[in-house]
Amino acid sequence: MRSVRSVKGSEGTAQPRAVVTGGAGFLGSHLCETLLAEGWAVVCLDNFLTGTPSNVAHLVGRPGFELIHCDVTENAHVRGDVDLVLHFASPASPVDYLEMPIETLRVGSVGTERALALARDKGARFVIASTSEVYGDPQVHPQSEDYWGHVNPIGPRGVYDEAKRYGEALVTAYRSTHGVNTGIVRIFNTYGPRMRPNDGRAIPTFIRQALANEPITVAGDGSQTRSVCYVDDLVAGVLAMAASAHPGPINIGNPHERSVLEIAEDVRAATGSRSEITFVGRPVDDPKVRRPDTTLAAEVLGWRPTVRWAEGLDRTVAWFREALSATA
Ligand code: NAD
Repeated sequence: MRSVRSVKGSEGTAQPRAVVTGGAGFLGSHLCETLLAEGWAVVCLDNFLTGTPSNVAHLVGRPGFELIHCDVTENAHVRGDVDLVLHFASPASPVDYLEMPIETLRVGSVGTERALALARDKGARFVIASTSEVYGDPQVHPQSEDYWGHVNPIGPRGVYDEAKRYGEALVTAYRSTHGVNTGIVRIFNTYGPRMRPNDGRAIPTFIRQALANEPITVAGDGSQTRSVCYVDDLVAGVLAMAASAHPGPINIGNPHERSVLEIAEDVRAATGSRSEITFVGRPVDDPKVRRPDTTLAAEVLGWRPTVRWAEGLDRTVAWFREALSATA
């Protein structure tokens, strides 16, 4: 993988500087942490809608790290040079975006435009966190980047899926109209430390339930599939995209497909839980299958996931054990 430092170019030795919108969220906080570790200065913009300052509390006070409380739909101005803008601000779990449909649409539209304008004004590389949800409930399997998707714009999930589709169109227009060096990554389900136990996504829900020896609630009969990527792999993929000049879209996700029931059983085993597995109704428009074709990421970025499911799950369970016992 190319070093993310190459984004800076060869003109100087100054410390490169990144802006991460949504930097206090699950993925954003890991990106901030890795960028700092790789020698970047990092400005984290977040309004704490679904993220929390505690996700980056360990970074506050480190040289080069700035945390700014700001809503990027209102303002995304940053003083000084910026070499890279990673636009990750957006509610991401169905529980969040169903509760905040307008905020989700606004951050995907107005928020994306403000972040793009920042990149344009600073001459920075721009990477947007798009999503596998742009494929909707796919009729093509696995999903490669040239598949246009199967999305219900007026279904409950449409606020998220269409915000991301609009975001991709806007990014493309800023590239062609203003010459911004843009990249689109389509992120598939990612898991790891700092997910919220109550964010409604399958893995944190199952872990929370298993650690409490409560029933593990699998939607439908659990035969629907997900392909889950450990957060460290995702970060490596996003930073490889940042270091390239490729416009994307490029899928970043783990192509190993598992049924939701299998995930629940593995969580039960990894936690040593006595929980029973129970079945509940499936949400509206819940996709039946989901698996990235990652050929392009491998070819263009030299990226492939390396963290095994058992290992990623153990690390995630260990983090949840500690986080949940601290709040008990
Ligand atoms: P998250 O909810 O943990 O993080 C999102 C962050 O954005 C939060 O800190 C939130 O407070 C912030 N935010 C929301 N609206 C904002 C606004 N108007 N101004 C400033 N900050 C705002 O979610 P996540 O899982 O870390 O997802 C991050 C990004 O990656 C999102 O854009 C999401 O769509 C995308 N993504 C995530 C996944 C995944 O599996 N986690 C999959 C596909 C795409």
